[in-house]
Amino acid sequence: MTTVAFIGLGNMGSGMADNLVKNDYNVLAFDLSEAALAKAKDAGCTIAQSTEQAAAEADIVITMLPAGKHVKDIYSNQILASVREGTLLIDCSTIDVETAKSVSELAEKKGLKMLDAPVSGGVAAAAGGTLTFMVGGDADAFDKAHGVLSAMGKKIVHAGGHGAGQAAKICNNMLLGATMIATCESFQLAQKLGLDAQVFFDIASNASGQTWSMTTYCPVKGVGPQSPADNDFAGGFASALMLKDLGLAMQGAKDVNAQVPMGELAAKWFEMHCEEGNAGRDFSSIINRLA
Ligand code: NAD
Repeated sequence: MTTVAFIGLGNMGSGMADNLVKNDYNVLAFDLSEAALAKAKDAGCTIAQSTEQAAAEADIVITMLPAGKHVKDIYSNQILASVREGTLLIDCSTIDVETAKSVSELAEKKGLKMLDAPVSGGVAAAAGGTLTFMVGGDADAFDKAHGVLSAMGKKIVHAGGHGAGQAAKICNNMLLGATMIATCESFQLAQKLGLDAQVFFDIASNASGQTWSMTTYCPVKGVGPQSPADNDFAGGFASALMLKDLGLAMQGAKDVNAQVPMGELAAKWFEMHCEEGNAGRDFSSIINRLA
């Protein structure tokens, strides 16, 4: 039986660890939160006393942590010093490209293989085992990781070398943030010009203005498939998480001197939206700023 050390059992990590247990992995779980550990125990994980202990006994280490500073700290000070030779390291957190690259380099200096493997799909996909993984790292490590990632996701894509998974994730989410705002403003303008929202949807969803934000995640109540707009923007993908990902995209753009005017504007709008008390609401609620 393969032993996986799973560190970070929050909203996403708890569902992911649960799916590993269901797929016959021996999961050694650690989190700073007692409540998260109790939930993991109920799901069939073995609770470790520390990150170091879990890492030392594992064939594979998976981390699902809030941000780059946690990832850097935990790998530099705990995981890399504890793991056995040959242990595969996989960070599934969403973090900046530079930190992903530098932590992987540290691992490689110790002779360890590491992948950045951020996910697309929220809490429901984590619980349902239907995440998409965007993976950066070398091909051998990717092949080795495929089985364990498949136990938690439905699509596993090798994006390229170290950091490429994070690059794919933040570029995708920058595109999503900007196209959601563009979709929202189009609906609001259409309405002010006297066009019915359903009529506009029927036309634009079959025309060149079609976007995922319109056809799959329509920000207008009662139009298109079921979406958070039908539930007063509860659940879904929180505006705060969109703002986090846009911040990572802006940092990445600055690091490589790329021009991202639409991304910058989207970041500003989501920042204002969060400051106005909408951090916990689905990101499509930004339509209300345009009313
Ligand atoms: P979360 O805050 O619910 O969970 C993070 C967990 O990490 C917490 O339980 C926390 O106690 C634990 N943790 C923090 N520092 C630790 C340490 N030093 N040692 C052990 N445990 C530690 O966050 P989440 O929503 O599960 O998100 C995790 C990552 O996934 C983030 O990087 C986020 O951007 C990304 N993500 C989230 C979603 C989503 O919908 N929630 C979707 C895609 C990607």
